[in-house]
Amino acid sequence: MWSKNYQKAVTFSFDDGVSQDIRFIEILNRYGLKATFNINTGLGEPQYNFELDGVVISHLDLETMSKLYDGHEVAVHSFTHPDLTQCTKKEVFEQLEKDIQIIESIFKIKPIGMAYPYGTYNDLVVSVIDELGLKYARTIEDNYDTSFQKDLLRFKPTAHFNDPKIHELIDDFLASKPNQPQVLYIWGHSYECDTHDLWAHLESICAKLAHHPNVFYGTNRDVLLE
Ligand SMILES: [Zn+2]
Repeated sequence: MWSKNYQKAVTFSFDDGVSQDIRFIEILNRYGLKATFNINTGLGEPQYNFELDGVVISHLDLETMSKLYDGHEVAVHSFTHPDLTQCTKKEVFEQLEKDIQIIESIFKIKPIGMAYPYGTYNDLVVSVIDELGLKYARTIEDNYDTSFQKDLLRFKPTAHFNDPKIHELIDDFLASKPNQPQVLYIWGHSYECDTHDLWAHLESICAKLAHHPNVFYGTNRDVLLE
């Protein structure tokens, strides 16, 4: 467990498996940071591209993803990104099981985590996740808190990368000398860097977080479970 040797850990969680992940991975790797990518394995065809604020967003195909995410973690985000709270139990099961199976066959590792599509969940969805053996599931309920959380199937991230308080949170986290291990958990979508002109902002976060000898850098799996 990292907390034997470090007081603090940093991890990133980015969703949807989109082409902007290529540029984000280059930044992460340059700074020695680790992330988890929550992917939809049923949306790799061009007909599933979508437009947001004038930017065409395309999902990566499985072949590209299998090489790109090397050294990071791949986790579940459902097969085709429905709102799982609007699905029957059977549909929730199929959406997650398909994504798990394809990730397993492409990446040769069984995924153990996920992020909720649209951030929505209910007790039924959580029970299916538990049944399928997933160990953590991320919501989009920012809690600005870096303490350990017990309910990993309703995990609350620290903050979105474009939160107005993100630099303040990072500065406080880096300056802190906690008695208990702390996790700074940042989430988002790399396509927001194109739609909201945030590449320089995201890189400034990475630069600030990198190369602190008392901070552990790991994927969600590394930081939350191992
Ligand atoms: Zn998503």
